[in-house]
Amino acid sequence: MPITLDPTLRRELAKRIRYYNELGIYDFYRRDSDPAAGIQPEERESMTQRASAVEEDLIENASSRPESTAADSSQALHIVREDLGDCTRCRLHKQGRKQIVFGVGNPRADLMFIGEAPGADEDEQGEPFVGRAGQLLSNMIKAMGLRREDVYIANIIKCRPPGNRTPERDECETCSPFLMRQIAVIKPKVIVALGAVAAKTLLAINAPMAELRGHWYDFRATKLAVTYHPAFLLRDPRQKKEAWKDLQMVMKELGLEIPAKGPQ
Ligand code: URA
Repeated sequence: MPITLDPTLRRELAKRIRYYNELGIYDFYRRDSDPAAGIQPEERESMTQRASAVEEDLIENASSRPESTAADSSQALHIVREDLGDCTRCRLHKQGRKQIVFGVGNPRADLMFIGEAPGADEDEQGEPFVGRAGQLLSNMIKAMGLRREDVYIANIIKCRPPGNRTPERDECETCSPFLMRQIAVIKPKVIVALGAVAAKTLLAINAPMAELRGHWYDFRATKLAVTYHPAFLLRDPRQKKEAWKDLQMVMKELGLEIPAKGPQ
């Protein structure tokens, strides 16, 4: 039998959900563990019913992402961007960022590339991957027989960390809900994580790049592959042939013709 939530609990719950929504979080998941384990049967029954009622409430609230009413993906991304606003959710807004680098490309792309964080050029121009690493990424995309505007490109975090340092874990956690919403709107067939920060943040696995690449992962029902970050390939061009193998795996999945020559 459904249970009505206690009004105070409902109010508190709504407040908590609004708080998460303001952080850009609209997805909530059931916990695997059973909080009623080891408790008397009657008490356990009541706890389970209360938990279900709470979950139903959460699910109802979670379905109210503002972009869910958009006419198309382009408008939906616009709504996510508006929601992000002139973001001050983490320390990076006061550490010298010039602008937020949201993401660029086809709002209905089959292929999405996700890097780490904007660098100086990206911070200047407001577009991801426009510096030297970006030029290499553009060449990689071209070698796949695609144009930059065919794919969607974004980063785990949207603001340049000072001195291009690696993003802190809390910065990734604060920013990535907006990336998750971009992914949910675009619904790519394949995501390519560029480098360790993107791979580890998306997959929540801590492993060396050599182990992470070369496999398919299931990321929220989307296929995800990991390859080397273009900035790493600029430092160690011998690894380009390994990255090309990763991209060939992606092309095969997307049904793209595989040219003999890789990126130059
Ligand atoms: N490196 C990244 O990870 N992202 C960019 O946008 C540029 C460089």
